[in-house]
Amino acid sequence: MSAGAGADAIRAEATRTERVIEQAERWGAHNYHPLHVVAASAEGAWITDVDGRRYLDCLAAYSAVNFGHGHPALVAAAKAQLDRLTLTSRAFHNDRLGPFLERLARLVGKEMVLPMNTGAEAVESAIKIARAWGYRVKGVPTGKARIVVANGNFHGRTTTIISFSDDAEARADFGPYTPGFVSVPYGDLAALEAAIDENTVAVLLEPIQGEAGIRVPPADYLPGVRALTTERNALFIADEIQSGLGRTGATLQVRNAGVEPDLILLGKALGGGIVPVSAVVGDADVIGVIQPGQHGSTFGGNPLAAAVGLAVVELLETGDMQTRARQLGEHLQQRLRALVGQGLTEVRGVGLWAGIDVDPALASGRRVCELLAERGVLAKDTHGSTLRLAPPIVVELADLDWAVDQLEAVLAELRG
Ligand SMILES: *Cc1c(COP(=O)(O)O)cnc(C)c1O
Repeated sequence: MSAGAGADAIRAEATRTERVIEQAERWGAHNYHPLHVVAASAEGAWITDVDGRRYLDCLAAYSAVNFGHGHPALVAAAKAQLDRLTLTSRAFHNDRLGPFLERLARLVGKEMVLPMNTGAEAVESAIKIARAWGYRVKGVPTGKARIVVANGNFHGRTTTIISFSDDAEARADFGPYTPGFVSVPYGDLAALEAAIDENTVAVLLEPIQGEAGIRVPPADYLPGVRALTTERNALFIADEIQSGLGRTGATLQVRNAGVEPDLILLGKALGGGIVPVSAVVGDADVIGVIQPGQHGSTFGGNPLAAAVGLAVVELLETGDMQTRARQLGEHLQQRLRALVGQGLTEVRGVGLWAGIDVDPALASGRRVCELLAERGVLAKDTHGSTLRLAPPIVVELADLDWAVDQLEAVLAELRG
């Protein structure tokens, strides 16, 4: 091929990237602002774009791809199930659901599982369970149930969930809002105690606030929340949709914190990056308040989702993913902390999950992500100058180091 033909080929490819992006922007709703990268395939921690360029995935679809792209055991489970049975609705039993529910309940150490699809649906389901529990078990007067949440929360995008968000973008112009929620500062036990009254049915929290920038609460916070909710007869609902299933070096972040919530919400990684699978997991005295006809989902607990979910549970049962996340995480946190003062103002995190604050005088989080993408690292900013790093747990140590090298180079470039 002549040099000219090579240049033409490069131009044609660039045009292809542009074309796909233009098409998505022309025909798709503008509810996202993606980086200028068009993924075409992926394996493990690496994504390949339409031009054949490779990128290290340091977002892992907000932890939905904890076990890597195309994990062989998960793909095999999905492919086998595709050939057998994919959907029955819950009007009939299917032979994949029982095994999935039992193994998930045992993994989490609870008695009962309510299967749903997306994370927001798990949150909505937990809100309904908590309210029904409040009226039927606790004896709260009808219509008076209150749920306490935390400032800076992210629990999903439904109208009820954004009703208790304090993110103006997520909330503005979507009212009227669902009543029955009160929000207090995250990590503040005194504020939480003051907010709980006799009609409080639940406290709903992320054990680490992911979307808020990987905010890790003080060590006594989650145990304090457990003590307060027990004392005041309210449920403790832990939203582990992003923090759970290996990311923090444990099956659940609440286990790292040594607490046992009443309801645990799972999603994202539960679907192995293949199908949406979410769940509310708890004991029978709480989840058992929901009776036939009171809640459901056409797709919740479908055989394909159950087969993939079961394969995810099997991966987690060995503990290898959790150990790997803990070990790689220690290394990542150590390397990132060395960059504080060199363009980073703060580094937070647990396990293979880091929130890093870029000096706002240097660049926005978005700009840093753009420069990282040019160097082959995909990451996502959240709120101004904060970046979230959450590579698939299967990432190789050398690749992780290389990604931090790229961040170091970008920061050096920005410092001039
Ligand atoms: C992503 C997320 C959700 C919502 O999950 P979707 O599948 O996007 O509906 C809820 N809670 C937390 C903590 C999350 O990170």
